[in-house]
Amino acid sequence: MRELTRREFLTISGVSVITVASSNMRASENIAALPTPQSRGAAAKTGDTQKPWYAVMRRCGQINFNERDPIAMDVNAWADYWASLKVDAVLINGGGIVAFYPTQLPYHHRSEFLGSRDMFGEMAAALEKRKLHVVARMDCNYAYEEALKARPEWFERNRDGSPRKHNESTWLLKTCMFSPYFTEQMPAIYREINARYPVAAFFTNGWPSTGALSVCYCESCQKVYRETVGGTPPEETDAANPIYRKYYEVFMGRVLEVWKLWDSVAKEKRPDSVYVGNLGGGLRTVKNVKKLGEVAGWFNADHQGRAGDTVIWDCAQQGRVAQSVMKGRTITNVTGAYSNSRLTWRHTAKAPAETTMWMAQTTASGMVPWFHWLGGSPEDTRWREVGRSFFNWLAANEAHFRNKRSIADVAVLYPQNTIAFYKSGSGPGSWRGGDRAQTSDYLQGLYYALLEGRFVFDFVHQEDAAPELLKKYRALLIPNAAYLSDKQCEQIRDYAGSGGSVFATFETSRYNEWGGKRSDFALADLFGVSITGEAIGPLGNSYMRIEQRHPVVNAFDGTDLLPGPENRLPIRVSDSSPLTLSLVPYYPAFPPEMVFPRTPRTDEPAAVFKQKGASRIAYFAGDVDRTFWRSGNTDLSQLIQNVVRWVMGDGSPSVSVTGEGVAELFAWETEPGYALHILNYTNPNMTRGFLRRFYAIGPQKVQFDTAAKKKITNVRALRTGRDLAFKQRDRTVRFEVPTVVDYEVIALT
Ligand SMILES: [Zn+2]
Repeated sequence: MRELTRREFLTISGVSVITVASSNMRASENIAALPTPQSRGAAAKTGDTQKPWYAVMRRCGQINFNERDPIAMDVNAWADYWASLKVDAVLINGGGIVAFYPTQLPYHHRSEFLGSRDMFGEMAAALEKRKLHVVARMDCNYAYEEALKARPEWFERNRDGSPRKHNESTWLLKTCMFSPYFTEQMPAIYREINARYPVAAFFTNGWPSTGALSVCYCESCQKVYRETVGGTPPEETDAANPIYRKYYEVFMGRVLEVWKLWDSVAKEKRPDSVYVGNLGGGLRTVKNVKKLGEVAGWFNADHQGRAGDTVIWDCAQQGRVAQSVMKGRTITNVTGAYSNSRLTWRHTAKAPAETTMWMAQTTASGMVPWFHWLGGSPEDTRWREVGRSFFNWLAANEAHFRNKRSIADVAVLYPQNTIAFYKSGSGPGSWRGGDRAQTSDYLQGLYYALLEGRFVFDFVHQEDAAPELLKKYRALLIPNAAYLSDKQCEQIRDYAGSGGSVFATFETSRYNEWGGKRSDFALADLFGVSITGEAIGPLGNSYMRIEQRHPVVNAFDGTDLLPGPENRLPIRVSDSSPLTLSLVPYYPAFPPEMVFPRTPRTDEPAAVFKQKGASRIAYFAGDVDRTFWRSGNTDLSQLIQNVVRWVMGDGSPSVSVTGEGVAELFAWETEPGYALHILNYTNPNMTRGFLRRFYAIGPQKVQFDTAAKKKITNVRALRTGRDLAFKQRDRTVRFEVPTVVDYEVIALT
């Protein structure tokens, strides 16, 4: 790479004169002092000078420049807009694919329309003037033909050696993360920007993501395959293949290496700067989010909206996945103000109700909203007020969004390995893994039942299920975590051994973390059952027969039969627990003449319920969670809710909200006290976007347990802006929320 030896002096309006030095010199040695974030940013506002600015950020915005924007971009108007949203930081395009400043670096393509402008510099100065942190939004994923000719080793290759073109903008070519583009060119660009501009963080669009691994055939990758992986990896996710498993480790290792390198480059100028990668994926992740969370100072979820039949709570789920690995450290979630859906329209606004509910889920789940528009000269400006009104409401109530910890008393195991790698079933009609929409269906079904039952819960990542972390929860719910390591099974057993309760389904613990099949459940002793054969299904028209009274089935008056799961494992009970739900095997559903049970009664349990001291164990041999998700069957939802209530024990839950409507709840201990978040999903567009309007739900009766001896003096509904009457007796505060239109946050102080 050509070294820059030329020195130049730039004047940045309103800031100071700084020196740009050679790219191989530590920029920090050459930069005159810039204003520190403590003197101007969010950290100063809270008086918390220990944490870097991004750790206390509450709101951010992004204007995504296009190459033509330098012709007409009004930087002051944009800076005024962002300032009017009271954001802490704004993301603006620095470079990578296109440089929006007069870069001196070779093969760093300047915007064709840049002319004599320095648009990044102008915008950075305009934001700086308004005391907003500037985050350089980069793109490391593509470069131009000119770079390909000069530095062919930077680019991804197909099997035949051809470079990989962008599918729409075919003049752009995909760069390879194993190549020096990531370790030399991108750091050189960061250093150039860091040296010239008052940048507080760097963000890369589209990298690394949480999705499936890519397989490239460039020289760097071939060398990695030869020397480290031991062969060329398969192009599809296949944890059964030892080469894939090795590649997964090597791939994750490279992602973390690049992340750490870029973070260290970002910090060369100021230690409170940070590199933030692009993650997201909602429930459906392949890359190890636990490991990504360990290197991330700030986790950005690029989960901008939903499409098609995606459920409205998709954004809250993103928050839960990210919280399971960040544990209160900064997570941002992007809301696309443009119409990102299937199809996507980049330059018209999304329905305001949809945009608002997405931002509401972001804040309810403890994430920081990041409001995003694309293109500097919008002809549709309807989105502006949608963001402004929500952000101004947030700013007015900011203290109540500073969470200290979740006060959920139920944990849901986030079964990442099963979601990423699960393959199950054999023979006709079996489903195969690799379809991530299906592997998350178990969790999705449990989730939907938890919403219907108004439970307050957290996700716990399967690699983070140590008993000391689980002990705050009354119960651990495990939606078919088929792929669990020996250690994780040991931790779950220890949790139950110390009095915790567990509800697990189907193939939970049948395989190790990579899908190696065990001869029996690793948790056979905990469940009190053993496997006697291969999974049966998918088959409809099977049943569960209620054999005797038990809290999980008492509410089912008027029936002895409940709908059965679509797939099940044949099991044998290893200790003598009474038969509560027995299996009625499949029989034909058509034609009506043939519809009668061939084996009306069996003594094989469909589920097992055990109690030992405070610990309650419920195990279902079938995929009741996934079957509920696929069928929408109300009995299955009720059954799952009953089981969750039973495993939680006899005491009342720490938070309960009763009333009409489908609502999602989050409860936090905050800096000033407590906050209960209620998201109203009651809407004909709950499972198919976009929301057109909101349908208010009526009175919600709340019972909320505080810490012992905490005296509550005020209960206020922040969205409607009024105080609520309440009663406190010992730890329990009772009040009624008269209505929830879209979202309500009740602050208890
Ligand atoms: Zn490569």
